[in-house]
Amino acid sequence: MNLQGDPGGIPHYVFSFAQGDRSQADLLGGKGANLAEMTRLGLPVPPGFTVSTVACRAYLAAGQFPEGLAEQIHDFLMLLEREMGQSLGDAADPLLVSVRSGGRFSMPGMMDTVLNIGLNDASVRGLAIRANDERFAWDSYRRLIQMFGKTVLGLDGHGFEQALDEAKSRAKVNSDVDLPVAELKNLVTTFKGMIVNLADLEFPQDPYQQLTMAVQAVFDSWNTDRARLYRRRERIPHDLGTAVNVQVMAFGNAGEGSGTGVAFTRDPSTGARGVYGDYLQNAQGEDVVAGIRNTLQLEQLEEIDPKSYRELLDIMRRLELHYRDLCDIEFTIERGKFWMLQTRVGKRTAGAAFRIATQLVDEHVITLDEALLRVTGHQLSQLMFPRFAADVSHQLIARGMSASPGAAVGRVVFDSATAVAWAEAGEKVILVRRETNPDDLAGMVAAAGILTSRGGKTSHAAVVARGMGKTAVCGAEELEVETAAKRLTTHEGVVVIEGDAISIDGATGEVFLGEVPVVSSPVAEYFEHGMAQALTTADQATNELIHAVDRLIAHADERRRLRVRANADNPVDALRSRMMGAEGIGLLRTEHMFLGDRKVYVERLIIAETQQEHDEALAALLPLQRKDFIRILEVMDGLPVTIRLIDPPLHEFLPNLTELAVRVAVAEARGERNAAELRMLQAVRRLHEENPMLGLRGVRLGLVLPGLFALQVRAIAEAACFRQKLGGNPKAEIMIPLVGSIQELELVIDEAAGVLKDVAQANGCTLSFPIGTMIELPRAAVTADQIAEAAEFFSFGTNDLTQTTWGFSRDDVEAAFFSTYLEKGVFSVSPFESIDREGVGELVRIAVERGRRTRPGLHCGVCGEHGGDPDSIHFFDEVGLDYVSCSPFRVPVARLESGRATVERTASGSDSR
Ligand code: ADP
Ligand code: MG
Ligand code: MG
Repeated sequence: MNLQGDPGGIPHYVFSFAQGDRSQADLLGGKGANLAEMTRLGLPVPPGFTVSTVACRAYLAAGQFPEGLAEQIHDFLMLLEREMGQSLGDAADPLLVSVRSGGRFSMPGMMDTVLNIGLNDASVRGLAIRANDERFAWDSYRRLIQMFGKTVLGLDGHGFEQALDEAKSRAKVNSDVDLPVAELKNLVTTFKGMIVNLADLEFPQDPYQQLTMAVQAVFDSWNTDRARLYRRRERIPHDLGTAVNVQVMAFGNAGEGSGTGVAFTRDPSTGARGVYGDYLQNAQGEDVVAGIRNTLQLEQLEEIDPKSYRELLDIMRRLELHYRDLCDIEFTIERGKFWMLQTRVGKRTAGAAFRIATQLVDEHVITLDEALLRVTGHQLSQLMFPRFAADVSHQLIARGMSASPGAAVGRVVFDSATAVAWAEAGEKVILVRRETNPDDLAGMVAAAGILTSRGGKTSHAAVVARGMGKTAVCGAEELEVETAAKRLTTHEGVVVIEGDAISIDGATGEVFLGEVPVVSSPVAEYFEHGMAQALTTADQATNELIHAVDRLIAHADERRRLRVRANADNPVDALRSRMMGAEGIGLLRTEHMFLGDRKVYVERLIIAETQQEHDEALAALLPLQRKDFIRILEVMDGLPVTIRLIDPPLHEFLPNLTELAVRVAVAEARGERNAAELRMLQAVRRLHEENPMLGLRGVRLGLVLPGLFALQVRAIAEAACFRQKLGGNPKAEIMIPLVGSIQELELVIDEAAGVLKDVAQANGCTLSFPIGTMIELPRAAVTADQIAEAAEFFSFGTNDLTQTTWGFSRDDVEAAFFSTYLEKGVFSVSPFESIDREGVGELVRIAVERGRRTRPGLHCGVCGEHGGDPDSIHFFDEVGLDYVSCSPFRVPVARLESGRATVERTASGSDSR
């Protein structure tokens, strides 16, 4: 096909269904490409042509039909008339067509279909005579005027529907099919009058004008606000344009032997085998989905019209084999003659996606590789979370951000201590805070779910909750949380006090009053406890689903190049991550080990004035740290455990400045003097930072506070020796955070090497831990060639890297203005959720390249939140990282997506058919 245009320079704007195929969705839109494909396959498709997206773009650019378009439409119409032996608007035997929009992607907000174009006051009589059916002709005409008014002229559809209802009650009938001809004629007059009144225009009697206006209206609908908003949200480019299909009508409203229906080649909601669909007799267009009359189950068509039913089944089989996937279908039967009006690869639920993919493998329709590409990590994660039971009514009291998915029910508590106490007493609790901070950690661990009224998806609560796989709703701003009064109030005045039950849905951000029943996920059960356990309560459908997941995840494991590790910092999480299939720990955060009871030791360290005080404080921490490491190295025996030395700023371990200052001031006013508190206050003041995230933390802390890193390295080394002596195979890796220059790293490595040597000698064991660094500052990425001289591995901390590359303060910006940014399309997804490939991603790419130039084969991974994000995983595979590390709960998702990434990469370029 000559897409460049004819020698005269006017492009081909119009294509017959007989010319195209399904690969041309860019040009013909999805609907047009599939109509062409079905025509090519010899299926019964009413003939027609497609006005291409090229024409739409030219129209939108010029504000009018481009030169040659009207002529081309006219030419193709003439061909159609010749083929059908009828002509548009013919008073004796009119050709009627539909005008159907259809871009590359299906899009709500775009103009709907107009049927029966070509009818006017004269041709409606011709149609009645030729069909020998007045009712049918006038029903078609009233439908045309109604659809034209609503979709082409943009009038409110309710007026038309109201007039239709009035006609029905005048005629004392329940259904539009029973309307007598006289009422239908009345309706036509009424509808025409409405168009004159509301649109200030006579309903066009010239069928060609009807057609042109409809095509133009489809083009214009590309730029409606709703369509633009939808595209921004779905990341569909604004410059694609839509195609328009003009197609000869098949009449489903020509009596009882006619009808219209939709069908799926398998059940799209469960994935069960077998046809599935609805049929409506004597109906046209959207009647079947509009719910105006009760539809029949597809199987009932077998009794009504066995020949058409068999034809449909046969076509469904052919389409599935041809598209090699679940297809959805729109069809119409006109007086016993079967017509296909649409097909496409159908949407389906997450569970159906897994089942159908493996069914198709069993049926030898697709390969396992292809099956893997038919399911997504996003779908898998949907399957892993528990849900609220669907058919129970709940009272919605607020809405926040879906910070960490899942469904949690419990009694409301407003502070960490109560959360811990109640949880220990066996109570399920929801921790409600304005926002959380590291002090709330114990409460967060104890709670079934977390609800905050401030902060976004990257707030402390959200990040920690996701890390723990714990349900959280954040930033429910309509809630007023009064921590001291132990009360929250909704903006509608509902008051919830400590002990009241609420239910939060972390996938939707909804907050409900009371206890909503939760259904657990058999897929999560499968990952956490194995197949046998998951199958104990499974019905047939669930059983098939679990086997499908099992098979596809196993295939992903076989295929993937990326290794998958977990972020875990306690033995329970470590064990859990192994169950989930983690091949090591990619990020063990040591700061959590300094919280809780141990905070006092850190405080002592910070306020130490003499060397002795300092050494004592460190010495007290050593055995505690060692014990932590021993347990984790035991659980992860034989697998790499990347331990990050302490990262956050010190003030996170200290009391709140204001509270402490007030306490000291009050004490002084009373004439009391508490020397320790005073010292603490001085320390807190000294360490106070305006911008702690860019302050004294990470490697900087290690260099400024001598002995701290050495203590941690010693604890790791001693733990490893201990494990070795017990016959274990500890594989610790030491990771230095927030490094910006090789000099920083060298200083720490020198210190660490000394400690390792000491410990090895003292214990008579050999220690060979790699020491590497986080790459989380742009400077580190750019000087990666130098840093790699000292670093034995890189781990990308993409949270901080995103923060420092964009200059976004993670805890502030998302709540402050990300919604505006998303709305205005600055980015279509938060760069903290999905890696910003062009900016942050480019730094990752540069660092990998430069690092490996210095140190060939340098081991590289990622341990930011992006490690569990499907889209980001594909990127990390592409830039050649060795592993991703994510929260334990995301490990299966990462395994699946890594497998998909490999298959996609190796399949691209070669024909997959
Ligand atoms: P949508 O994209 O909303 O599904 P369609 O273009 O598929 O819109 O049109 C909606 C319905 O209109 C179709 O399902 C079909 O029932 C009816 N329709 C469209 N074109 C024709 C036609 N040429 N003959 C009969 N019915 C048609
Ligand atoms: Mg359709
Ligand atoms: Mg960091």
